[in-house]
Amino acid sequence: MKTFEKVTPILKRNWPKIILGLLLIIVVDLLQLTIPKIIQGSVDIMQMDNVAHSALFKPAITIFLLAVSIAFIRFLWRLLLIGNAWVIDRDLRQMYYEHLLLLSQNYFNKAKTGDLMAYATNDLNAVRMLMGFGLIILIDIIIFSIGAIFFMTNINLRLTLLAVIPMPLLSIIIIIFGKKIHKHFGNVQKAFASLSGKVQESISGIRVVKAFVQEESELDKMSESAYDYVKSNIALVRIFGIFHPFLFLIITISMGIVLVFGGEAVILNEISMGEFIAFFSYLGMFVWPAIAIGWLVNLYQRGTASLKRMNTIFEVQPEITDADADENITQIKGDVEVKNLTFGYNETVILKNISFRVKAGETLAVVGRTGCGKSTLIDLITRVYNPPEGSIFLDENEIFRIPLQTLHNDIVMVPQDIFLFSDTIAGNISLGNPDVTTEVLEEVSRRAQVHEEIQEFENGFETVIGERGVTLSGGQKQRLAIARALLTNPNVLILDDALSAVDTKTEKNILEHLVKIRKDKTTIIISHRISSVQHADKILVIDDKTIAETGTHEELLTLNGIYRDLYEKQQIKEKLERNSE
Ligand code: ATP
Ligand code: MG
Repeated sequence: MKTFEKVTPILKRNWPKIILGLLLIIVVDLLQLTIPKIIQGSVDIMQMDNVAHSALFKPAITIFLLAVSIAFIRFLWRLLLIGNAWVIDRDLRQMYYEHLLLLSQNYFNKAKTGDLMAYATNDLNAVRMLMGFGLIILIDIIIFSIGAIFFMTNINLRLTLLAVIPMPLLSIIIIIFGKKIHKHFGNVQKAFASLSGKVQESISGIRVVKAFVQEESELDKMSESAYDYVKSNIALVRIFGIFHPFLFLIITISMGIVLVFGGEAVILNEISMGEFIAFFSYLGMFVWPAIAIGWLVNLYQRGTASLKRMNTIFEVQPEITDADADENITQIKGDVEVKNLTFGYNETVILKNISFRVKAGETLAVVGRTGCGKSTLIDLITRVYNPPEGSIFLDENEIFRIPLQTLHNDIVMVPQDIFLFSDTIAGNISLGNPDVTTEVLEEVSRRAQVHEEIQEFENGFETVIGERGVTLSGGQKQRLAIARALLTNPNVLILDDALSAVDTKTEKNILEHLVKIRKDKTTIIISHRISSVQHADKILVIDDKTIAETGTHEELLTLNGIYRDLYEKQQIKEKLERNSE
């Protein structure tokens, strides 16, 4: 039952449709079960002496009317129940996506994209099939079997008992094969996930693949993965291939038994010819439940295997939550304090004893060698990862007390690796907010020094970027991301090396503008270039996991330490660059 935990609320919400649909199936089945009875009557009429041909018209018309009603009601229940299965599909997909959005960066670092995509496609399909056809077949089987047995018993009890002798074999076969199908379908879905993961990775890394002439090895990996998928599918087909004929075999054995003993009963006049034919029709009706049970077992095992796979995601608890948040905190003015912060992703310590404070309105710069932990520090302040308790305070409130909504409204970070959606430039800057006017878009893109380039595109702000449109340069992407951040003009703005692909002069221009318009707001700038951050109120130099030096540009130069060393080297480099221009 735990497997169905996520589906039951959706089923409950839609119960009127489901119940009505199931009732209609029952009606159809009952109508269908009366047809052999009518045939029985007709055959018995035929066997009488001196019957008029016209005596058969009435049963014929009845069968015709029944057939029409059955067709119509079938249409209705299909509409209700299959339609409903799509509603379940949608709701489950929604729940899945909502849950994914709650999960932390930590989870996505480990999770495989292929798996996550497979859950929302192939696995969800299997669940939908179970909730639609599975439910229909289940009710159908029950009504049909009970109905058929009832009518058969009505005709002759002894014959019925003889006919059902092979039936217990059915359940044994179902149990044995059901387990196998479950296991093999799990393998099929795993192979599919791995295959789609490979495709995704190979396509998103196509540039590297081509640049390093890895086409052949990629193709090999892909065909290996595709072959795994084929193998696991064939294994499943093999199981199902044995299972299905077995079910038929059992029904056919029953038919043989009925022919021998039923025929004898007709000869001995214990039952009429009409009754014998009707009995045979009812037994024939068992062929359908036998096929259907095969399907049902298949659908059930596939559906539950997939649901279990999806449940593994639903069971992942979000790490970054509002559990300790005080909902009265609705704003962060911009005071950021880090106290004695020590952090590592695993046992290895990345940052050690980091302490500093930025007051609202100040600009802080963080410099340090690549890999020294600058982005890590920022990720902790923005709660991409959870910092240790008692180490980060915003407006003197511990970070965990601040609702995530408030945190993300008031602290905006422009990350090192920019992500843009395949949307228009305007859509990317405003993140799809239609209330942002063109004037505002122009203003922020001017400040981010990207306005002129946008104007040069054929469709200006309406130019589509990404998959379906133009490709932007690294520097253009970075400046669009800056424009995006400037649009919200948050109380705390963090630029994580967000201008690394922009030339020194443009970076300086942007930062100077930025400092001017953000006079009373907090800005944290991480940069490789010291020349760009020298005007900051305070500069932190991280080295060997901790803050090695701190102060203003002038103060740091007098220390004659790492900062001065870095600065001088960069000065020489910049001079060389300028000379070569
Ligand atoms: P850069 O200037 O190149 O951007 P950085 O100072 O921002 O470097 P970080 O990205 O903070 O450096 O990385 C600091 C260290 O933490 C690196 O050694 C990196 O390998 C490690 N690291 C970063 N992210 C993770 C993670 N999710 N899990 C484990 N280790 C990580
Ligand atoms: Mg970094």
